[in-house]
Amino acid sequence: MTEPARLHERPVAVIGGGIAGLTVAAALARRGASVTVHERAEALREVGAGIQISPNARRVLDALGLADRLEAISARAEAVELRDASGRRVTRLDLQSQRPGETFHFVHRARLLALLEEAARSSGVTIRLGEAVEDVPDAALIVGADGLHSQQRERLNGSGRPFFTGQAAWRALIPAEANPAPVAQVFMGPGRHLVSYPLGEGLRNIVGVRETDDWTAEGWSREDDPAAMRAAFQGFGGPVHDWLAKVERCGWWGLFRHEVARHWHDGRRVLIGDAAHPTLPFLAQGACMAIEDAWRLAVHLDRTPQAEALAAFEAERRPRVTRIVDAATANARNYHLTGLPKVAAHTFLRVGAWVAPGAVFGRYAWVYDYDPTVE
Ligand SMILES: Cc1cc2nc3c(=O)[nH]c(=O)nc-3n(C[C@H](O)[C@H](O)[C@H](O)COP(=O)(O)OP(=O)(O)OC[C@H]3O[C@@H](n4cnc5c(N)ncnc54)[C@H](O)[C@@H]3O)c2cc1C
Repeated sequence: MTEPARLHERPVAVIGGGIAGLTVAAALARRGASVTVHERAEALREVGAGIQISPNARRVLDALGLADRLEAISARAEAVELRDASGRRVTRLDLQSQRPGETFHFVHRARLLALLEEAARSSGVTIRLGEAVEDVPDAALIVGADGLHSQQRERLNGSGRPFFTGQAAWRALIPAEANPAPVAQVFMGPGRHLVSYPLGEGLRNIVGVRETDDWTAEGWSREDDPAAMRAAFQGFGGPVHDWLAKVERCGWWGLFRHEVARHWHDGRRVLIGDAAHPTLPFLAQGACMAIEDAWRLAVHLDRTPQAEALAAFEAERRPRVTRIVDAATANARNYHLTGLPKVAAHTFLRVGAWVAPGAVFGRYAWVYDYDPTVE
């Protein structure tokens, strides 16, 4: 007996046209669903900085036929270097020898969004911009992909109380130098560190993390004066000074810890991505988990009736994302850096995880070895 084509012409409303929303839209549409994405922004704008795509998420992009495009718009990191604040190299880890045959891509968030948008549109997805949506009353299935401050999460869970970690971060993009070395560099100083890597297409990403008592607003869109970023890393050696001199705009956001949502679905509505499980950036898995979620939700909806599918999706995903969120939180904890290079090895484990986690001695193999596309 042939399986019923469960998703054929099935109407699905997706709230949020971010990484999770566009990926799930493309994955569902390719299985025959009739998908509409509602995105509150007027345009899928050039906001954000560098995002890492590790092998676990790359497998989904491969399955969506986007491998070549990803190669074209991203940079690969071949090594990670840890330097002290003076710029002196403390250690270097060659990624190629650590995880041969696997690639870690650094890509501008806006470029990745554009790629996913094209994949969604070419699969027949309707994208409605400028629509801040709380509900889609006539939809039998609503995918809540509305990100960090998700209203859909609140509907299912009430309001949560995030916990400020005592750290805040700047992020900035500058033009990359000609032929930048495909290396992620981490510069460590007391109570602060700066990470930089080339993003491809002539851009370099810079993230500076600093400990602070100030309760900094959580969110991606807040800007700061680049002078504050320069002041925080004044005296750092190597290329840091020259890089920061080129910063014209920088984002500034507080790092908050959230609980994974207790309830992910109610039979009609389901959460994916940051809406279900916002994470700290110290494992670089926010976008990757969103992409994994998207593929797995489509698989379950294709396989079983909706109520069963949503329950199976949550049961499958919850343990994995909780483990990842917890690992990222552990990396953020007790982040006091003194006495380099004494603590270098230990620090490297944590900071290495932030920029190129696959490199870190197989410690996170369980994150990268997972293949969401295998049944
Ligand atoms: C502006 C922005 C910049 C970011 N920059 C970075 C970065 O530089 N580096 C990094 O590692 N991560 C960044 N992130 C986070 C990263 O993209 C996410 O952690 C990850 O990709 C999870 O994706 P998501 O789709 O779940 O959430 P998001 O990518 O946050 O997408 C959620 C989407 O839902 C939309 N939305 C929210 N509420 C509604 C509503 N009521 N109706 C309709 N639409 C709604 C939002 O406008 C957004 O487009 C950024 C996120 C945003 C929104």
